[in-house]
Amino acid sequence: MRASQTIDIKEIHISGAEGIYDKEEISKVLNLYLNRALNHSRGAADKIYFSIENIKTVPIKVKLLPIKSQFPNSTEEARDFIFKNLIKQNISKDAIGQAFNIIDSGKTMRGAAIISAKKGLRLDPNTERGVRVSRLGIDKDSLRKLNRRLSRLKINTNRVKEAIILASKVANHDDLVAELCVSDDPDYTTGYIASKELGYLRISNIKDFGDMRGGRIFFIKEDANISELIEYLERTPVLISL
Ligand code: AMP
Repeated sequence: MRASQTIDIKEIHISGAEGIYDKEEISKVLNLYLNRALNHSRGAADKIYFSIENIKTVPIKVKLLPIKSQFPNSTEEARDFIFKNLIKQNISKDAIGQAFNIIDSGKTMRGAAIISAKKGLRLDPNTERGVRVSRLGIDKDSLRKLNRRLSRLKINTNRVKEAIILASKVANHDDLVAELCVSDDPDYTTGYIASKELGYLRISNIKDFGDMRGGRIFFIKEDANISELIEYLERTPVLISL
């Protein structure tokens, strides 16, 4: 699902969602996505696209990342924590600076920006759109276990589930060094960094309440094959399991 609002002649991203589901679940999920688009904290959508496709290849199985949390008291502390931890993942200061420039610019994309982890170069071909991770889901048994795990942590929401599933698919690719995510919803101030090594590491106070800016950044190896990576992120079906 992709929802936007047109202001003057500019299309502003409101919300997006994707998943792999059984045929019997389609109408329930469509309804869920429709409600999300129509009642969004970024504003009401005036254009909503749905696309449904029969997936014919067997999805790759990928393990869920471990879930961790950090609770900085301010946005400064949160950014400091992010810098320190991404530098430990061999990401340069320039690349992290470039990532925050994109997030702070307020030019909300519907996809993620791809940045080389050393030189900090922007590598995704369409910088207005970014790269949209799609064709991802979780098997039913794992979803039950994940619900229990998240309920114990008191964070069992669709938003958290969708983020962990996405982060797990992304981190699984060998060319991915780490991911940084700041929600563009003004009422959601918990973001995360993620990688095979970091796990899915949630960070509170990543931005101020009311701030509409946000974004997703994938830091990748300098010698990555970009088109192969984008094919994996956008088109390769992945099912997460615990
Ligand atoms: P959200 O956490 O849903 O508020 O999304 C934060 C940002 O992540 C959005 O502004 C998009 O730039 C990006 N984003 C959201 N969903 C995806 C996706 N499926 N693939 C890539 N980037 C995404």
